[in-house]
Amino acid sequence: MDIRRDFIDAVGNTPLIRLRKASALTGCEILGKAEFLNPGGSVKDRAALAIVLDAVGRGQLRPGGVIVEGTAGNTGIGLALVGNALGYRTVIVIPDTQSQEKKDMLRLAGADLREVPAVPYKNPENYVHVSGRLAKEMAASEPNGAIWANQFDNTANRLGHYRTTGPEIWRQTDGKVDGFICAVGTGGTLAGVAMALKERNPRIKIGLADPLGAALYHYYKHGELKAEGSSITEGIGQGRVTENLKDITIDAPYQIPDEEALPVVFDLLKEEGLCLGGSSGINVAGAIRLAREMGPGHTIVTVLCDSGTRYLSKLFNPDFLRSKNLPTPDWLI
Ligand code: PMP
Repeated sequence: MDIRRDFIDAVGNTPLIRLRKASALTGCEILGKAEFLNPGGSVKDRAALAIVLDAVGRGQLRPGGVIVEGTAGNTGIGLALVGNALGYRTVIVIPDTQSQEKKDMLRLAGADLREVPAVPYKNPENYVHVSGRLAKEMAASEPNGAIWANQFDNTANRLGHYRTTGPEIWRQTDGKVDGFICAVGTGGTLAGVAMALKERNPRIKIGLADPLGAALYHYYKHGELKAEGSSITEGIGQGRVTENLKDITIDAPYQIPDEEALPVVFDLLKEEGLCLGGSSGINVAGAIRLAREMGPGHTIVTVLCDSGTRYLSKLFNPDFLRSKNLPTPDWLI
């Protein structure tokens, strides 16, 4: 019998899928870790679960307690579903710019959703700070405890990937992996996988695929946090070195414009049957860049973070794409 006990047990152990076109273009094996197949639909199920289990282990959260978080959506969805499975309530603070599909899913999952204006991190009204204050208030009044998941600076996030995603990739490739690359939201995925892989083989190259509007490409390339431009991708694009990114070595940073990432997303859907969100496009475009730099014959792994169905109203909406002057394939019109 091959049965997963419950929702929690169904998180992780996702397939590694060979990406045909990216591999053909580069002469490398480009493999996508299919995180969109997690039960909550994204890579963030792993972080949500790791953070909740860590808080429970520390005695900070008891049955009926509350999980509070600021999130672009996917972490919130993961937390709400983990909460439903384990008996915790969730309060989610989200910037109002995030896709309607993710907000609808959060409400459906039973999260108490608080939308706030999208303002920079340095503004005290930024969603991250609002969620931190809310958690503090609730912790004082909730008899069963209230935690702030704090995904950006809570290293239980990267530990989850260090213990699961990284070792899975190593096993699935029989250790024949030469590079790993992905974008950063919190940095949990990149750092956790990098730590696990470098520990097994320090020669594995770790790449960063940074969207425009994020500051990490310049930081890892030139030592200075500097952002330019913007991206329609959601869940990625970081302006600071989070706790989850501390002490991580990035061998190959790339800056990927949406004009490069979106055609990758469209081709993956039309030519390979993989319906993915924008961050997956940044990741696969980044894997292609790393493959070109390393040369043919290498195996490079990246992350397919979530499904395109989470972005029908944006990434796959011709009116939205045209309003941003982004490539709009004929078949979409
Ligand atoms: N892609 C999507 C769609 C996400 O929601 C996130 C998480 N915010 C990421 C990528 C980045 O993952 P991480 O937080 O582990 O850096």
